[in-house]
Amino acid sequence: MQPGEPRRHAAILERPTLVLNRSWMPVHVTTVRRALCMVFRDAARIVAPDTLATYAFDEWIELESPPTPVFVRSPSIQVAVPEVIVLMHYDRVPCHEAPFTRRNLFLRDEFTCQYCGKRGAVERLSVDHILPRSRGGKTTWENCVLACVVCNARKGDRTIKEAGFRLLRPPVRPRWTPYLTLRPNQRLESWSRFAPESRRRQHGTF
Ligand SMILES: [Zn+2]
Repeated sequence: MQPGEPRRHAAILERPTLVLNRSWMPVHVTTVRRALCMVFRDAARIVAPDTLATYAFDEWIELESPPTPVFVRSPSIQVAVPEVIVLMHYDRVPCHEAPFTRRNLFLRDEFTCQYCGKRGAVERLSVDHILPRSRGGKTTWENCVLACVVCNARKGDRTIKEAGFRLLRPPVRPRWTPYLTLRPNQRLESWSRFAPESRRRQHGTF
């Protein structure tokens, strides 16, 4: 084993794995370590994101060229790291409504000003009340959006109409998904086909 190898190994085991329920809906994000335990206990199968083939633990370690090129190794065995697993027995959706929090609002609006479309760091964005609080506007999913410092200052205490602003998209309460717990750059590329957003887009209602 190379020096530094145990640390690298530990980091790989902490990488995220997407968990789908029995209906192939994303319900959770776990670590590679826990994902491999679930597959080993036969509570889940590993999903190949490209082919959607599923593998039990024994089948997975036998694959000659597994779909993911990263491995965890022990002296006796090497296992390709799963990026997606599907549960064998669980078909509930854990939670239907996303709680209104500042963090979740940033994730819903993807760190983007909903008036001018500028993406920015947390300190460059603020929560704007569409109908200002001074006019009775509530702090809710439907009345709050992210706005950059410039747009926020320009809008001031006016309504969208008075300020001549337009929203990029309607501010709705998002359905809870495991993606709400992760920033966009923490999601793996291979998860995109399982995202509810892309399902809706495929079905033409987005
Ligand atoms: Zn802006």
